[in-house]
Amino acid sequence: MKIGILALQGDFEEHEAMLEALGVETLRVKTEKELLSVDGLILPGGESTTMTRLLEDMELYGALQTLKQRQVPIFGTCAGLILMSKEVEDGADLVKPLGFLDITVRRNAYGRQRESFESDLEIQFNGESETFRGIFIRAPRIVKVGTDVQILATHQGEPVMVRQGHALGSTFHPELSGSTKVHEYFLEIVKEAKG
Ligand code: GLN
Repeated sequence: MKIGILALQGDFEEHEAMLEALGVETLRVKTEKELLSVDGLILPGGESTTMTRLLEDMELYGALQTLKQRQVPIFGTCAGLILMSKEVEDGADLVKPLGFLDITVRRNAYGRQRESFESDLEIQFNGESETFRGIFIRAPRIVKVGTDVQILATHQGEPVMVRQGHALGSTFHPELSGSTKVHEYFLEIVKEAKG
């Protein structure tokens, strides 16, 4: 099993460290060929506008759509979740979302004072709830979810971790919390998909 981590920009090294701690083979992905070679893909946190520009410059949107058609598991955190959404309320020209998750997001939606904060979350892992430290950094808000989207965690009543089929996304940064639990959950999805 090989997990690719999009390594154009953002905190891909932290995701890599999590997966390495779990003994999983990783690949820093920067080309179409690399993208199409992985069993699962992580889109890290960073800046969704910059990532959009780089994905366009490097002509990677086509390969990402191929992964979507093949239902390759994808996990996006923060900016990565923004890229996975169907609609970005305030980013029409700057962010080109991929539509892996039937959600609408609003970028940088927590206002100045709470741009970055931490909060204990209750995450539903296969029907069992576990407490997980959520680290939010200039996080987006998920303002609309489609009927096929499962909400796995909320913060003050709003979804912060969602899943749709093999697509998983969080508005917070599980790669920074010190616990590998969310990454383990993603690896289960990849194993399931491989059959
Ligand atoms: N605010 C960033 C964006 O819009 C996301 C921040 C993050 O990934 N920590 O892309």
